[in-house]
Amino acid sequence: MFLEPHINNRVERKAGWIEVICGSMFSGKTEELIRRLNRALIAEQHVEIFKPSIDKRYHDTNVVSHNSSTIRSTPVDFANDILLKAGNCDVVGIDEAQFFDNSLIEVCEKLSAAGKRVVIAGLDMDFEAKPFEPVPFLMSIAEYVTKVHAICATCGNIASFSFRLSTETEKVKLGEKDLYQARCRTCYQEGMKQREND
Ligand code: ZN
Repeated sequence: MFLEPHINNRVERKAGWIEVICGSMFSGKTEELIRRLNRALIAEQHVEIFKPSIDKRYHDTNVVSHNSSTIRSTPVDFANDILLKAGNCDVVGIDEAQFFDNSLIEVCEKLSAAGKRVVIAGLDMDFEAKPFEPVPFLMSIAEYVTKVHAICATCGNIASFSFRLSTETEKVKLGEKDLYQARCRTCYQEGMKQREND
């Protein structure tokens, strides 16, 4: 369980920090993002949440996780829009970070340098098990990285891979259980091998 960093009151704190929550599909990334942001909201911190406007699977303006816990969010077309809209908030949440381009890295650096707590959730690997930019870069510059795991849909072990059930090859293909399965390394590799042989 991630615990918010202890802030030393003896030092006047000028800079914020970056937290990354990453993992495969169905690993609970968005639930963990919502949990952290709700705690900040309860403490009456000013929280703003952004998501890429490409992701309209559930609802236009809410960050909605698979288990339907929701929190109000602002859809944006470009990472730079977050800088313009973050205003003087204390905490910036960013969901589905993998759908932004690499300009999100500089945006997060600027936000944290300006004293904000930045909490980012995103897929760390694409369906080919390759690092899904910009998330790996964000993991490098973050103070805190939490990798959450799903359960393998095939064998029940801990899963960190997103297996695409269809044979389409575009990198971004929005879908849920109709299109993806969380799988462990062994079952992911078996699935990919089987596909090659088909
Ligand atoms: Zn498995």
